[in-house]
Amino acid sequence: MVAGVLVQLASQNVDKIFDYSVPRELEDSIKLGIRVLVPFGRQTLEGFVLEIKDSSQLELKEIYSIVDYDIVLNEELLSLGKEIQHDTLSTLISAYQVMLPKALKAKAGTTIHKKFHTFYKMGQNNYIGTSVPQRKILELFQSKDMIPKEELVSISSSALSTLVEKQVLFPVQIEDYRLKYDIHQDSKKVLTPLQQQVVDKVIHGDYERPFLLFGVTGSGKTEVYMNIIEHVLSQGKTAIILVPEISLTPQMVEQFSNRFGNQIAALHSALSDGEKYDEWRRIARGEASIVIGARSAIFAPLKNIGVIIMDEEHSDSYKQGDKDPRYHARDIAIWRGKYHCCPVVLGSATPSLESMARANKGVYQLLVLNKRVNGRSLPDVEIIDMNREAKNSSSHLTQVLLDEIKHCIDRGEQTILFLNRRGFSTFVTCKNCAETIKCPHCDITLTYHKSNKMLRCHYCGYATPLPKVCPNCGEEALSDLGVGTEKIEEELHTLLPYARVLRMDVDTTSRKGAHKKMIEAFRNHEYDILLGTQIVAKGLDFPDVTLVGVVNADTSLNIPDFRSSENTYSLLSQVAGRSGRSDKQGKVLIQTFNPDHYAISYVKHHDYLGFYKEEMFVRRKLGYPPYYYLCYIKISGKDAKYIFQEALKIKQSLERMLEHTTILGPTSLPIFRVNNIYRYGIILKYKKEDRLRQDLFRVKNHYKTNNKVRIDIDFSPSHF
Ligand code: ADP
Ligand code: ZN
Repeated sequence: MVAGVLVQLASQNVDKIFDYSVPRELEDSIKLGIRVLVPFGRQTLEGFVLEIKDSSQLELKEIYSIVDYDIVLNEELLSLGKEIQHDTLSTLISAYQVMLPKALKAKAGTTIHKKFHTFYKMGQNNYIGTSVPQRKILELFQSKDMIPKEELVSISSSALSTLVEKQVLFPVQIEDYRLKYDIHQDSKKVLTPLQQQVVDKVIHGDYERPFLLFGVTGSGKTEVYMNIIEHVLSQGKTAIILVPEISLTPQMVEQFSNRFGNQIAALHSALSDGEKYDEWRRIARGEASIVIGARSAIFAPLKNIGVIIMDEEHSDSYKQGDKDPRYHARDIAIWRGKYHCCPVVLGSATPSLESMARANKGVYQLLVLNKRVNGRSLPDVEIIDMNREAKNSSSHLTQVLLDEIKHCIDRGEQTILFLNRRGFSTFVTCKNCAETIKCPHCDITLTYHKSNKMLRCHYCGYATPLPKVCPNCGEEALSDLGVGTEKIEEELHTLLPYARVLRMDVDTTSRKGAHKKMIEAFRNHEYDILLGTQIVAKGLDFPDVTLVGVVNADTSLNIPDFRSSENTYSLLSQVAGRSGRSDKQGKVLIQTFNPDHYAISYVKHHDYLGFYKEEMFVRRKLGYPPYYYLCYIKISGKDAKYIFQEALKIKQSLERMLEHTTILGPTSLPIFRVNNIYRYGIILKYKKEDRLRQDLFRVKNHYKTNNKVRIDIDFSPSHF
């Protein structure tokens, strides 16, 4: 017997299947998709068995051993990996590794221990016991199959050992998973007729085409998801629900665990490696039937999937853009939906332009929830023109906004204050020489973290304490500029001393469980104002929040990216949607220097479709998605001049090969140097180009062995 093994080594050069002979004693255990140890050159490496063949004429090396007997890549995932390799031009091994929790990857550096728990089961049933404690123990087994050891020991450990000796009871080892979900009788809602319609269409409709559920904020999408899933479970099938980020997950996980208990498994970045490993195995073993998680949860090894739901489908966190494989979870969802013949539901209050365009063309089926469940209208949105306001004051909070916050507190209601931090940071400048402090390895200013007085590079991780004097002129004149959440918090303390402010950002939520505690504290009215960045913008559902203030709407608008209007519109709508979700009317105040920009004025009228039309017009004029596809090629290396020359060569050779593609660049990236690596980008725009993947593969292949140049290819990048 011969096994084709793909070794876990992240190198373009060894991304091939190698044949090994299978020793006699392992023949019965070798299966497709299990992990084995093999000799590779002088190393011993882990790999996946991808092929099993009868024999070979060649002298082959032998497989050393089997790492574990569970199949880690089932048949579906095996073919999905090949699809990803083909679609994204990644290595096959990276396509498989992205599907697995860290603990199942080679060289994870951590050994994850399994914990076991002892239970007792009943053997023969006719023994009635000879003492009171024995009978007491046996009585317990009338209502239960299995009882934990501690419970029995607490009655009498000698009675227990007698019963074991007599073979009445015998021990079983049950794996003790790290996470548990308790069912709470949650307040299950009677669906509104509109919600019910959507549920019916999904469960009885045609699943050949994905559904796009366009539902305004507060229209009760979560309840719709849960009802669809209940139906799916009743048919003995399973479900995946994706949420964008961990910041959204705790409330969602809580809602799902309240209703479905231990049937759910959660996969997201806030879990420890051990917890992820446990959850993954519960899924693979069929012990959990609902997977809820962020991007990579789309690879959950569920069998018999009955629905795949992607909440906030417009979120760019669904695209892995920073490393191979550069995949979009939406594409994977649709692929798996086809594989399992099940519906795929993409939900959002602000669908991505691509998805809405597809729905308009009938590629997706459009479902609409255009009303809030409480029957209330969407919150009133007021735009505050900072060009006028800012002249009067040095504060970042206008008087209008402050007054409104005051009223809100007086009414005993709550405020969310949102700081738009996309492409924005707090930096340190010298008042004397105007020098800003930059990273020594990257072309970017360092971000100032006030809490520990450190300067940090968000690109390479370089960190240094804030110097006393300016490194340039030696004066003691450094001061921090820009608006961070800490700065706004300070201003609030000065201007509204009695307001209780809860600041939520990466600094304050980094400790495990901190995020959840903060949400609970705010819900319990321990605070009046929740202040934060993206983390407060989405998904949160607080009944007493009636005011949302946006401190700086413009920062995401000023990013030079074809999606900046779309991102701004969707971010502002999402954050506005946090206001007035229960029975009180909500209000939203948006501070902006661009009051007339369409991305902002359409938010005022809650007019997604108006925004969509105008933005589609812009995209068509400029030749951007969804009218054209984009592909981004990044060429990087230590020697800037050499890299530029190679980038030019790539462009020229692509120009010779591709007929229907516009090729832009090479241009240096906005941040040219990161960690002393220089970066150039080439952009391809095309509608249809049959040879594209083949030709790009050739380019990639050409540089495979050149360690001075690195080529990264991103199809449909979420941004540049
Ligand atoms: P969305 O995700 O669409 O913004 P949610 O799913 O968070 O909206 O629902 C908004 C609020 O409405 C939640 O507090 C939810 O519990 C409540 N809700 C949802 N459906 C119903 C219903 N049929 N009846 C009453 N309340 C509902
Ligand atoms: Zn740096």
